[in-house]
Amino acid sequence: MEAAELIVGIDLGTTNSLVAVCDERGPRIIHDAKGRPLLPSVVRFGGGKSEPVVGYEAREHAVEFPAQTVYSVKRLMGRGFGDVQEDVPHLTYAVVPGEHDTARVNVDSRVYSPQEISAVILRTLKDQAQAALRREVRKAVITVPAYFDDAQRQATRDAGRLAGLEVVRIVNEPTAAALAYGIGERSREPQTIAVYDLGGGTFDISILQVIPGAPDGKQEAESFFQVLSTAGDTHLGGDDVDWMIVESVLGEVREQFGAELKFGASTRQALRNFAEATKINLSSADEASLQIDLGDGRRYSRTLTRHELQEMIRPWVERTIRSCERAMRDAKLTPKQIDRVVMVGGSTRIPLVREMVGAFFQTKPYTALDPDQVVALGAAVQASILSGLNRDVLLLDVIPLSLGIETVGGAVAKLIMRNSTVPARATEMFSTSIDNQTNVKIHVLQGERELVKDCRSLGEFDLRGIPAMPAGIPQVEVEFLVDANGILNVTAGERRSGKRAAIQIVPRHGLTREEVERMEAESLAHAREDMHAHRVVDLAVNAALDIKWIREAMKRVGAGLDSTYRRELEKRIEELHQFVEMSRGDSGSIDADAFHRAKEELDRASVRLHEAAITKSLQDEDVAIER
Ligand code: AMP
Repeated sequence: MEAAELIVGIDLGTTNSLVAVCDERGPRIIHDAKGRPLLPSVVRFGGGKSEPVVGYEAREHAVEFPAQTVYSVKRLMGRGFGDVQEDVPHLTYAVVPGEHDTARVNVDSRVYSPQEISAVILRTLKDQAQAALRREVRKAVITVPAYFDDAQRQATRDAGRLAGLEVVRIVNEPTAAALAYGIGERSREPQTIAVYDLGGGTFDISILQVIPGAPDGKQEAESFFQVLSTAGDTHLGGDDVDWMIVESVLGEVREQFGAELKFGASTRQALRNFAEATKINLSSADEASLQIDLGDGRRYSRTLTRHELQEMIRPWVERTIRSCERAMRDAKLTPKQIDRVVMVGGSTRIPLVREMVGAFFQTKPYTALDPDQVVALGAAVQASILSGLNRDVLLLDVIPLSLGIETVGGAVAKLIMRNSTVPARATEMFSTSIDNQTNVKIHVLQGERELVKDCRSLGEFDLRGIPAMPAGIPQVEVEFLVDANGILNVTAGERRSGKRAAIQIVPRHGLTREEVERMEAESLAHAREDMHAHRVVDLAVNAALDIKWIREAMKRVGAGLDSTYRRELEKRIEELHQFVEMSRGDSGSIDADAFHRAKEELDRASVRLHEAAITKSLQDEDVAIER
């Protein structure tokens, strides 16, 4: 049989570009030879080399070659010279008028069209894909912003052609993002989606209506995505936050060390990079320390908290929310009518952005996929649909494999069983197994087997900041929620302290029908040994806790007990301990019934010890015991 035609998906971005492919294993980004997923959309011409320099190297040396380094060329694609005047002040290279008043780029007296420059980026991505896939790549789906007009779309097609690619379809970026999340694949009902895209230098909000394909669910019947409205700001993005931090730092530096301090362009650029790193840090940390050596023994040092940064950027996020309001008005919708919100662009990692967008649309936004990669992944999904490859990818309205979390000893507690229909929800209470444990790792797994090592890991996160309590006392509630698109939201909360943490996952990615069937068959084949292994794990965990407790009690009150009884207890502890030790090796050879009996015998034998310990505790606490 001839292999299906390979079509790649390309996100040709203002700042970065990516190439992805979707095959039986699901959509994935194709990395470059150094393992990097992104290609900076930066091209440097000249410099004594005939071939242009593309990507990281061009970006790193941009400050040295301001007139030869072309970046943000997407802003010029298919546009007239007159139309780009508001962009020109932000660019360090020369933009000149070309034929029919089109915008062109002039580097060292050579004039390039934006299409030619984009073609250099596309060719690099094509080569990257060919090298990784070891196949010729001739066709691509390329994404463009929803607001691109015909001329801009045509320019993108032309860039593809110049790079030796047949552009089989131009797809709107928000549509691609929705496709990456499986929206439109599963639902039978029309859905209204908001795609909030906040990158480094641009912000776009798009409202889409998804009309599902034919009701028989066949993949050939593609869903139809209609753009109801778009709004945004072509000069608003994460860069603004970097400059806000730089300005605030410079203000404080001048206050402390005198207003005469001057900063040149390269120092300001270095400060910006530093500010960006601080900003990124504060998306996961509560505070970041800023230190700048100003020379002559002058040192600026301060701590910036996430809270301070949030207050600094709140008006900036509010500007995006105002665009969302405009888009909603244009679409004649209210936020309540939005079924899903999809987050795109690196700046949507900022917690305040997620929070404010969620509050505006009154729904938790989708963040399971990497916001930098979601458009390219969706382009690959579209490509695989067009090539007919996507037919094998599992598209069912049921959960194909059980979902659960890791418990002590490497066992799996299943919360949602396979074949549950979506949407599905389940909660379960867990606790800690070690005294004073303040962190709990929640490891989310998929599969039918009983032990972690035999299941697929979907992701993990930490619930931190639980107050120190004895083992077993914290009440950790874990909730699994799978929505109609198969997106899994896992939330863990400790009831007493109110601490919460969450993760979003797209569990179906990369699972074909054959894989599911294989995993199912394996679970049946191993059912008996799995049950045995799970039983041994549980016995070992509980027995170890019993032994720990009994040994502690022996230390406290053992001296007051007769020696025959003590010897009997020690013998039983030793017997049980042997089983616990054995369970660390090959659990298959352990006689679980004998293990169980040994545990019960110790439990029975320790009753007297428990009583003595309780009496001692009461005395220690000085509780008056009537005599
Ligand atoms: P994009 O244009 O989508 O590649 O987004 C790039 C922007 O996202 C830049 O301004 C980055 O500084 C910003 N960014 C990337 N990661 C984070 C993060 N973890 N927290 C905050 N901003 C981020």
